[in-house]
Amino acid sequence: MTVSTKPTTAWAQVNEQGDLVIPRDVAMRYGLNPGAKVRLDEGTNFVRMHRPITQLTKIYIEPTVSCNLDCITCFRNGWNEPNGRMSDVSFEQIFESLKTLDPLPSVYFGGIGEPLVHNRTIEWIARLKQLGVSKVEMITNATLLDETRSRQLIDAGLDMLWVSIDGATPESYADVRLGAELPHVLQNLRRFDKMRKAGHFPKPEIGVAFVAMKRNIDQLPKVIKLGRSFRAKHFSVSNVQPASSDMLDERLYMHTLMDSAYLDGSKNVPRLSLPKMDINEITRDALFAAFTSGCNINLAGQNWGGASDVCNFVEGGTMSIAWDGYAAPCWALMHTHTSFLKEKQLTNQRHVIGNIAERSLLDLWLDPEYLAYRERLHNFGFAPCTFCGGCELAEGNQEDCFSNPSPVCGVCLWAQGVIQCP
Ligand code: SF4
Ligand code: SF4
Ligand code: SF4
Repeated sequence: MTVSTKPTTAWAQVNEQGDLVIPRDVAMRYGLNPGAKVRLDEGTNFVRMHRPITQLTKIYIEPTVSCNLDCITCFRNGWNEPNGRMSDVSFEQIFESLKTLDPLPSVYFGGIGEPLVHNRTIEWIARLKQLGVSKVEMITNATLLDETRSRQLIDAGLDMLWVSIDGATPESYADVRLGAELPHVLQNLRRFDKMRKAGHFPKPEIGVAFVAMKRNIDQLPKVIKLGRSFRAKHFSVSNVQPASSDMLDERLYMHTLMDSAYLDGSKNVPRLSLPKMDINEITRDALFAAFTSGCNINLAGQNWGGASDVCNFVEGGTMSIAWDGYAAPCWALMHTHTSFLKEKQLTNQRHVIGNIAERSLLDLWLDPEYLAYRERLHNFGFAPCTFCGGCELAEGNQEDCFSNPSPVCGVCLWAQGVIQCP
């Protein structure tokens, strides 16, 4: 499990009783408190220790589901929910709850909607930084990132600004982000970059989120180049989750879910272990053929199947608070919406634990049913619907053929490493 992208090494030691003793600071970072239960998975030469399900490390706050754009990739194309914005009362309830937590989780402002449409978001970021939250992130389409808001975000102490860019030319960008113009967004981002304090590690860091589709995958290298022009340090690519049938042909993962390169653990699939290697005109055809050879791929010790049946929201110890104050396990369960599994339309029903108006963050997080659900997710004992996709149960997230209680996650593309958020 990881909490940061920085490579760190620590040593644990076996004591005379044969127990593994983990350094206290590492144990605290990973929520290894007395009584915590930890799942262990054996790899080729290692044991992977998952985060205990009791550790809350990150809160997603959705300021609003309103937006000034109308992107073809947007989840909102698959729902009928009214627009709404988080009230001051809900934020104060979150804030008061956060004060009681030690250590404080990190906070990410985002969800479905544009955070800068809400006129309180920047003030809330400043409040959380003053409270001592070590990492506050926000995602934006950057159309409203004018000079004033840029100054306010920098002064608020924001740590990470994610910006969604799906094309590197005005035409390809506007083809996805209806209502926005790339030159205007780039002007905003270049100004934001210059307004940050000079140095090797300017803050906030900038990250670029890219949604890959047939129509724009050729733009990815150009978007990375563009991002480097305003000193983006992180790039996060997701596939598209179609909310409507006209987006079905845009998917780039129709064979992925059954591709043996991404299957781990099947004894019938031959294994191919590859070293790191230059990727250039000499190697690219051979590597492409190897990756599509029908073998399970291990690249420099990392198995490509490691992202299957893993919910990063739960593995990451996160909880999401929707604009109306309801807490959900993830973005996918914050709102009822339609999506597609293969050619089948499915309705994902909202699943909430309770409202911040009635219960504290900790009380919601330690709700016994929610704990049991997170334990099921760690074990991922759901029916393999993304692989099978064959019956009418997969038209929703309410039941599966393994008789799991609702909601079921076998239909979820996030848990298969296909859809991801930064
Ligand atoms: S910017 Fe985000 S919330 Fe707004 S329409 Fe686009 S995808 Fe949806
Ligand atoms: S598996 Fe999918 S639906 Fe289930 S909690 Fe994780 S992200 Fe949400
Ligand atoms: S519920 Fe079972 S049979 Fe139906 S799609 Fe999922 S795995 Fe297949």
